Amino acid sequence: MSLVEAELREALRLPGCALCRLEHLAEQTYCTWFILENYYSAATLEVLNRGGFCRVHAWRMAQLAGQRLAATYDVLVREAKERVRRALAVSTGAGSPVRWRARRWQAVVMRVLERKEPCPVCVASVRRAELGARHLVQFLEQEAGRDDYTRSDGLCWDHLVRVCLLAEPPVASFLLNDFLRRLSALEASLAEYFRKSDYRFAHEPKGPEQTAYLDAVELFSGLLDRVGGVMVPGRTKLAGRGHRGA
Ligand SMILES: [Zn+2]
Ligand SMILES: [Zn+2]
Ligand SMILES: [Zn+2]
Repeated sequence: MSLVEAELREALRLPGCALCRLEHLAEQTYCTWFILENYYSAATLEVLNRGGFCRVHAWRMAQLAGQRLAATYDVLVREAKERVRRALAVSTGAGSPVRWRARRWQAVVMRVLERKEPCPVCVASVRRAELGARHLVQFLEQEAGRDDYTRSDGLCWDHLVRVCLLAEPPVASFLLNDFLRRLSALEASLAEYFRKSDYRFAHEPKGPEQTAYLDAVELFSGLLDRVGGVMVPGRTKLAGRGHRGA
């Protein structure tokens, strides 16, 4: 069994979308590697200079790497100044407003200032999820695999689409039937939430329907490795998720 296959089987046993979880594992691997030896390596600095971390990963890295980032950004700031100076030279060298050409200026902004390379953490995590998706398709070709998948939390919308693109009709229809069943369960859970919101039934004990909206967020937009800042009632599916290996 390959490493990705083992990871995938493990992820299917844990809460949330298995491919989201593989993405988080890849993020963790990248961050660990970055902190241990690469926050000041020439190759990494070059990648960051051309693209940089996306918003989410920049802040995650700030959290994990802490003050090591002072060395990283010390280099990036100098490179950034160089680029700003180059753009500035064009904007002040253009002379009279008559000679100003919007198109030429936009080309300079895009060439000199825009950061085109994608975030390296995003690249690493998408790659891992793609690999996981390929293994999942093979896994779902077996009946035991389909049973494991049915018992799992299923895929989020985007990852379902990725896997459907790779799957042939039997696996694709299995996945879509399964997704439909999950949407119906969510619909029922939301209906139960509204029923209990009615003053006539407000005395009934609250249950998992109270966090149905979070299940919906997860299904539509994927799993976060921590449900940051959201109040999650105890004894529900999402409570304590941050501590369960995410
Ligand atoms: Zn997902
Ligand atoms: Zn903004
Ligand atoms: Zn990113």
